[in-house]
Amino acid sequence: MIDLKNITFDHCLKCTVCTIYCPVARVSPEFPGPKQSGPDAERLRIKDPGLLDDSLRFCTNCKRCEIACPSDVRIADIIQTAKWKYAGRTFRPRDFLLGRTDLLGRPAVRASRLVNALAGFKPARILADKLFRIPVDRPLPRYDRGTFERWFSDHASSQDGFERKAVYFHGCYVNYNDHALGRDVVRLLNALGFGVTLTREVCCGVPLMAGGYIDRARKNARHNIGVLTRASGEAARIVSASSTCSFALKNEYPNLLGLDNSAIAGRIEYITRFVHRCFEEGPVPRLGPLELTVAYHAPCHLERMGGALYTIELLKRIPGLNLKLLHSECCGIAGTYGFKSEFHPVAQEVGRDLFRRIEAIRPDVVITDCETCKWQIELNTSRPVLHPVTLLCQSLDV
Ligand code: SF4
Ligand code: SF4
Repeated sequence: MIDLKNITFDHCLKCTVCTIYCPVARVSPEFPGPKQSGPDAERLRIKDPGLLDDSLRFCTNCKRCEIACPSDVRIADIIQTAKWKYAGRTFRPRDFLLGRTDLLGRPAVRASRLVNALAGFKPARILADKLFRIPVDRPLPRYDRGTFERWFSDHASSQDGFERKAVYFHGCYVNYNDHALGRDVVRLLNALGFGVTLTREVCCGVPLMAGGYIDRARKNARHNIGVLTRASGEAARIVSASSTCSFALKNEYPNLLGLDNSAIAGRIEYITRFVHRCFEEGPVPRLGPLELTVAYHAPCHLERMGGALYTIELLKRIPGLNLKLLHSECCGIAGTYGFKSEFHPVAQEVGRDLFRRIEAIRPDVVITDCETCKWQIELNTSRPVLHPVTLLCQSLDV
């Protein structure tokens, strides 16, 4: 029977604008591009599901083709779904491990010094490349000691005095790798008059989707929808400071995983949109001057949500800031994509122009909303990278 879950392929006008905007098709002759791999091939695949080809795996799911499409074809969703069918049920140890952020993160934060030392130990990395195909020259994220959840539970009583509450979906990166960002989010929300609550969240499922572990991704998504729905009694808003987690909770759960997230979808906000609204409604704390040149890079999934504008508007409110907006383009890493040896050269090539532009500006700091964009820019430029929330906190301190 023909599967008609996503019939947007039929809206394709064959204009090829998507292919012009595809960062992978631009640099890799092995990927035919969104039009051909998406709507064109889908017409054939629904008639003969066996018509899947290896080139699908090159798509990063950056969604830039969908932003460009004048006909609202959900091109990336079409390609992802086909890719999962192509991946089948073969056990791939590397993709299994990269998708299990909680499974890896919980023991890693207990032995973070050892794990961080091993991650930087060349012979161990050569072995990891041989066994799992994780490129030697791609630095692995460093683990913090303990979890952010643990830090928060030790400080949760400080949130009791706030009348208004926001549920914070912190994500794996903050929980295992960057507690400081989580603490900045709590501080900023508190400064705006919101107490923070956490739920018993699990990984949003994006790395699982990237590896083709869809049943497991659905399990995580159902869990998150459940805990966030139940938290609605305490707080109307759910905020996330990860552009990819926000996008998954809001868009990928219904569009890619076919789940009903209507109980939470309207209340999930990427943090700068939430904070921007607070600034519009006031009263808000004074932002002090920061005499810095900053270059702003908008992550792909935030662009897809139309959210970059709110980050930019907030940055413009910081007095003294010399803000340079970088040309909107993919940095190449695309979550776990750049951590796979077969895609690492493509990821590096996709981001090359962006890295050149950053080096030409030589900002004091690059600002971006996505943790993996941060890793990619820090690897390929000489500039430090911060989250906009951290810069806002620095401005509150002045
Ligand atoms: S999602 Fe990104 S990589 Fe994939 S086809 Fe679209 S633009 Fe190209
Ligand atoms: S941009 Fe949209 S309408 Fe144009 S070719 Fe691509 S999918 Fe078709």
